[in-house]
Amino acid sequence: MKYDVLVIGSGPGGYVTAIRASQLGFKTAVVEKENLGGICLNWGCIPTKALLKSAQVYDYLKHVDEYGLKAEAIDKDFDAVIKRSRGVAEGMSKGVQFLMKKNKIDVIDGFGKLKTGKKVDVTDSDGKVTEYSANHIIIATGARSRVLPNLPQDGKKVIGYREAMTLPTQPKSMIVVGSGAIGVEFAHFYNSMGTDVTVVEFMPNIVPVEDKDVSKQMERSFKKAGIKVMTSSSVESVDTSGDGVKATVKTKKGEQILEADIVLSAVGIKTNIENIGLEDVGIITDRDKILVNDYYQTNIPGYYAIGDVTPGPALAHVASAEGITCVEKLAGLHTETIDYGNIPGCTYATPEIASVGLTEDKAKEQGYDIKVGKFPFSASGKAKAAGTPDGFVKVIFDAKYGEWLGCHMIGAGVTDMIAEAVLGRKLETTGHEVLKAIHPHPTMSEAVMEAVADAYDEVIHL
Ligand SMILES: Cc1cc2nc3c(=O)[nH]c(=O)nc-3n(C[C@H](O)[C@H](O)[C@H](O)COP(=O)(O)OP(=O)(O)OC[C@H]3O[C@@H](n4cnc5c(N)ncnc54)[C@H](O)[C@@H]3O)c2cc1C
Repeated sequence: MKYDVLVIGSGPGGYVTAIRASQLGFKTAVVEKENLGGICLNWGCIPTKALLKSAQVYDYLKHVDEYGLKAEAIDKDFDAVIKRSRGVAEGMSKGVQFLMKKNKIDVIDGFGKLKTGKKVDVTDSDGKVTEYSANHIIIATGARSRVLPNLPQDGKKVIGYREAMTLPTQPKSMIVVGSGAIGVEFAHFYNSMGTDVTVVEFMPNIVPVEDKDVSKQMERSFKKAGIKVMTSSSVESVDTSGDGVKATVKTKKGEQILEADIVLSAVGIKTNIENIGLEDVGIITDRDKILVNDYYQTNIPGYYAIGDVTPGPALAHVASAEGITCVEKLAGLHTETIDYGNIPGCTYATPEIASVGLTEDKAKEQGYDIKVGKFPFSASGKAKAAGTPDGFVKVIFDAKYGEWLGCHMIGAGVTDMIAEAVLGRKLETTGHEVLKAIHPHPTMSEAVMEAVADAYDEVIHL
């Protein structure tokens, strides 16, 4: 079987690439060893957001009196919460199946392995191997939970994200190791459900890639919600021999033993680059990633790589954008390369976090003379009315030319607000243009306009 484009892996990188390739007139196939939609739809972005929605509804129910309402006999059904999340994921995967059919893309079930001569062997579940060839082979095999040597995962007491979203019973206590987006989202979910949660973070701040003000606000909000936070601390070893887990944690003050039912390891990802034939073909990797050029071509002509297997932020929207850029270039379009400085990152805990561009520290490190503005949601009518006054919008501008260097938000619903900053930066907007773009009242988005006004000493509601 010969294709124009053959994609290995059907995550948000692979399936989106396949659709765009088909739109561009390429005869396209996608190889998948598990479920269509990859980690994002089946084990990542979507099922976690379903869990977090249940947590949010439960949190509202627990606080109905604050809204002048009464609800009696509020309870949760952990099993039903998990089932709902799995159902949402299944529905999304079926949606991708529909999209593949609609776009006339062949779906090949099985494990794909690269061969020289632009060929791929696919081994199906019965062990049968079929050879396919294509003019362009795109590797989009994604990643899995990273396992640390001192934190081996047994899938029961020391778990990764897959187990964390399918636990048969709710643990009474949990240690979450790592406070990136995944760790923080699960910490919030389990805490809301009533699990006693401790977050252990190696860096001095939780959500360490974010602006320091955001990290500090997140820590305050977590502590207020009852989550224990240990920063500048690392789990040295775990003992699973007893009923639960005993974790030895190194802190600034010395070693501490923490006990819990379960340890969730959320320390990052490991790419799926083993046994896929990279060495046979001669494709170069570095530090667990496949090296590519600006249009995602590897060092071997005809072979490309996109998404989590390549360097850059491991995010679904990045994987999709890379795939689209790759095939548009193959089709001869004058496609722009991706601006990795303008990629939004979101964390969907309570409060939510959304950011794009430089943090205040990074802007200073890069030598910018900056103007910083900040608007707290405690001064926002919409946030007050909604009962969600925690958080703020912070903006950073270059003082000389007015370039919008960074935007950092923490609060309710901010993940739906960050696109304004992404678009503004893409269009090279200045602070005064944002100020003159009238924002609707009352909305959370007014906080962006007010934060910009604050940067230019024109803030109204502070
Ligand atoms: C818990 C969690 C929450 C997340 N939340 C978010 C979020 O909110 N927003 C966000 O942007 N990102 C989020 N991410 C990250 C996001 O899921 C990934 O960045 C994204 O899925 C990467 O897409 P991809 O296409 O590169 O790979 P993947 O989604 O990993 O897909 C790779 C696919 O390739 C298949 N495959 C692998 N090897 C082979 C082979 N040899 N043959 C055939 N098939 C193969 C796999 O089965 C898989 O289906 C989250 C991740 C996790 C774990």
